[in-house]
Amino acid sequence: MTFKEAIQDPVFHMIAEAASKKEVSSYVIGGFVRDFFLERQTPKDIDVVTVGSGIDLAREFASMLDEKPKVSVFKNFGTAMVKTQDLEVEFVGARKESYHFDSRKPVVEDGTLEDDQNRRDFTINALALSLNKEDFGRLLDPFDGMKDLEKKIIRTPLDPEITYSDDPLRMMRAIRFASQLNFRIEPASLKAIKDNKKRIKIISRERIVDELHKIMLSDRPSVGLSLLYKTGLLKLILPELTALQGIEEKEGQRHKDNFWHTLEVVDNISQNTDDLWLRWAALLHDIGKAPTKRFDDNAGWTFHGHEFVGSKMVYRIFKRMRMPLNEKMKFVQKMVLLSSRPIVLAQDIVTDSAVRRLIYDAGEDIDDLMTLCEADITTKNPRRFKKYHHNFKIVRDKIAEVEARDHVRNFQPPVDGQEIMDTFNIPPSREIGIIKDAIKEAILEGEIPNEYEAARKFMLEKGKSLGLKPA
Ligand code: ATP
Ligand code: MG
Repeated sequence: MTFKEAIQDPVFHMIAEAASKKEVSSYVIGGFVRDFFLERQTPKDIDVVTVGSGIDLAREFASMLDEKPKVSVFKNFGTAMVKTQDLEVEFVGARKESYHFDSRKPVVEDGTLEDDQNRRDFTINALALSLNKEDFGRLLDPFDGMKDLEKKIIRTPLDPEITYSDDPLRMMRAIRFASQLNFRIEPASLKAIKDNKKRIKIISRERIVDELHKIMLSDRPSVGLSLLYKTGLLKLILPELTALQGIEEKEGQRHKDNFWHTLEVVDNISQNTDDLWLRWAALLHDIGKAPTKRFDDNAGWTFHGHEFVGSKMVYRIFKRMRMPLNEKMKFVQKMVLLSSRPIVLAQDIVTDSAVRRLIYDAGEDIDDLMTLCEADITTKNPRRFKKYHHNFKIVRDKIAEVEARDHVRNFQPPVDGQEIMDTFNIPPSREIGIIKDAIKEAILEGEIPNEYEAARKFMLEKGKSLGLKPA
């Protein structure tokens, strides 16, 4: 059988030619081959393994291209990368690896193609296609990776206990691929991940977060998240989330399991947005419920202030995970903090002033907030499901209506501090803050329109009540 279609692109013929000039053999291996057979969009990064020097082959290949691209050499890894058009081709010499217990960085020595396939993490990532003259396009599949692709199974080429212990990042990768591709992890692998979960501690936070992001960006992140949970990894990585798991009952009153609820919310929102940070907001929106949970004799289970506590926890989680402490984090915090506001609105009569306040507080992020709140509806009662969605539709309409009229999304006071000082001929002082605040409140409450004339009149009255006189 030949697999020439996979490597039709002229770039593969050029690599083959470069390899034959250097008198070495070469193969396309890994993600490119896997994704081609899965009929996924074939990746823009191509891994080429050669039985010889990857760096020399990369140089030869680059010299044959018209545009003479730069060769980025990573000497420590024995690899080199060439960018041509929209492709990134990474060259590596075939190698054998051995590991020390306290590091995921192996000791390497030159090896055969088989050695190199042995060191790959999964059978579906060990598929190689020959780029050699004598058998161009031949598939080399020593571990039945093609069968695993068909059966949708994640399996390691060698003993899973050793594979995961050697490089514990593979535990995250297994779960990430399961989530991205909607594959099953075979039982022996799953057991090995459970057995080795504690070794995740030798992996850097950044690496872990990279994989978490990929899980969060998959079609149904709950596939990966529930595997993280079942293997015990989640408790080590994000204990704040697993703390949400469980249902307690007191005096016949039960609260919902906020962990499984959260996973549903993440899946829901993923149907409506590809924004990584909005998905993270969904993941963390109830995070404050574990520390705020109380049982009240009258009210039953309560989570008072969980939104505020949760938004504080977002900072601590981002910091610990070495995630960016920038406007992305602030966005997630804001979503968590405001996550219950539209729900309260949807339950009550939707007043203009409540909507104006919501728009004022959410600003540019009001649409994202609504997307989050709609995803939060996980009731299995069809009547309620319909009702809540209907209510949110009313809120959305009202937001559009109020915003078109009042423009409070990026609120700028129609009368500013300078004008107040000039009007009453006073220096910067407490009174100015009081007047400014009163104007804002009057607008949000709908007592006056968001317009200059009305605001100026209101300012003069407010100043008078404070004993100020216009100059
Ligand atoms: P993607 O690019 O979508 O993340 P990929 O399979 O191409 O998927 P890369 O991280 O680009 O993943 O790695 C390329 C190849 O290198 C993999 O297909 C696999 O064969 C091998 N590989 C990567 N990381 C590991 C690892 N930790 N252990 C063993 N082999 C690995
Ligand atoms: Mg890749």
